[in-house]
Amino acid sequence: MVTNSKVQAITAPLCLSDEQLRKCMTLFLAEMKKGLGKETNAAADVKMLPTYVRAIPSGQEEGKFLALDLGGTNFRVLLIDLKGRSVKMSSKIFNVPQEIMVGTGAALFDHIAECMYRFMYAEGILDQVLPLGFTFSFPCRQLGLASAKLIRWTKGFSASNVEGEDVAKLLKEAVKRRGDFDVDIVAVVNDTTGTLMSCGHSTPTAFIGLILGTGCNACYMERIENVELWDGDTNEPKEVIINMECGAFGDNGVLDFIRTEFDQHIDNESINKGNQKYEKMTSGMYLGELVRLVLLKLTEAGLLFGGKLPAVLKKKDVFYTKYLSEIEADADETVTRSHKILRDELGISYATKEDAELVRYVCSLVSSRAAILAAIAMVTIMNHMKRPMTTVGIDGSVYKYHPKVHTIMTETINRFIDPNLKFKLMLSEDGSGKGAALIAAVAAYQKAGKPA
Ligand code: BGC
Ligand code: MG
Repeated sequence: MVTNSKVQAITAPLCLSDEQLRKCMTLFLAEMKKGLGKETNAAADVKMLPTYVRAIPSGQEEGKFLALDLGGTNFRVLLIDLKGRSVKMSSKIFNVPQEIMVGTGAALFDHIAECMYRFMYAEGILDQVLPLGFTFSFPCRQLGLASAKLIRWTKGFSASNVEGEDVAKLLKEAVKRRGDFDVDIVAVVNDTTGTLMSCGHSTPTAFIGLILGTGCNACYMERIENVELWDGDTNEPKEVIINMECGAFGDNGVLDFIRTEFDQHIDNESINKGNQKYEKMTSGMYLGELVRLVLLKLTEAGLLFGGKLPAVLKKKDVFYTKYLSEIEADADETVTRSHKILRDELGISYATKEDAELVRYVCSLVSSRAAILAAIAMVTIMNHMKRPMTTVGIDGSVYKYHPKVHTIMTETINRFIDPNLKFKLMLSEDGSGKGAALIAAVAAYQKAGKPA
């Protein structure tokens, strides 16, 4: 669409030049190295946490495993039946009420245990003590595969007395408090790791896991010699998955040269101000809100809605991130969905076709920037790993449902990748839950002294 220069002046900061992107790549690599270094890790924002997950599942794993998936929009309990490469899953989604997300840690873990009880009751497995893989999608310092201390909450969570604690221990205690079932927690994993493992189960070139959902983060397979903080064994394979926690990229200010007034506003109004600055530009929890803030500014400048501010748009988070996916699915010449969302869902009865076009334009700027910034991290990791072929296993609502994110990421990576390297972006559906079960399977086998 043609936009006038006043619109351009307001939206230009959301468009990044190749020069700016190259600078982001250099900075990202520097932050990776800082996180990997023994002397520099303590002060690093991108924590580069060793996961203790080293081998991709062999495909020989068998048996029943439980998995928990906490940290996205939904909380899920899963039962997974593995037989080599065949995976049968049943799962149930539970709600985590807002007051529990920000209440006490004990109440949160009691709620998780209650959901597990209900699921296991329905599956008729209350009397079994199954190995459990716990996908806990927050930055954790792993003390081993089955023990992980929460560094700090991200996304909408802030439950008290959990930061600094071992979340496997908190879960065990909650299960014990009930006393009506038991589990054997064999692994705590990040969702990125679960996604990578789940993709690796079918694809041997899977070396990166990416989540582009409520939050944003990546993991990749790093050579142990580069992981200065590694304290595990150095047996083959001499590699370990690193949970990067790259959502925190920029927390020290290095991204301020591309952060806009809208990004600053998001940060100021968030429950974790100053943290997760890269995540706040790339993930589903914030993209809709970013659009709303741009729309406000355009309206105030008289460029949208005839300069008449719709009352609904004054409220935080009313512009859902899923609207971006819906609006951008409109074919170029029509704005049917956009118009419908503005009029029917948001109740802005006086929105015109031109308004709908401008709203779509803003959505496309915000989602493109997110996809481009996510791609920048991917290509930096690939150029660093130098593997001839890398498959990136990706999960998360933004990647899965947005009609253009995959294409924009692919184009961006192609622009910056070392020409000797090849890659593929692959949807790793249900990666976090399935991957946790696979990791649990490998761990359970090892624990039982059976070869995985
Ligand atoms: C968390 C990561 C997680 C990501 C995606 C971030 O907020 O810090 O641990 O992988 O969200 O869920
Ligand atoms: Mg998830």
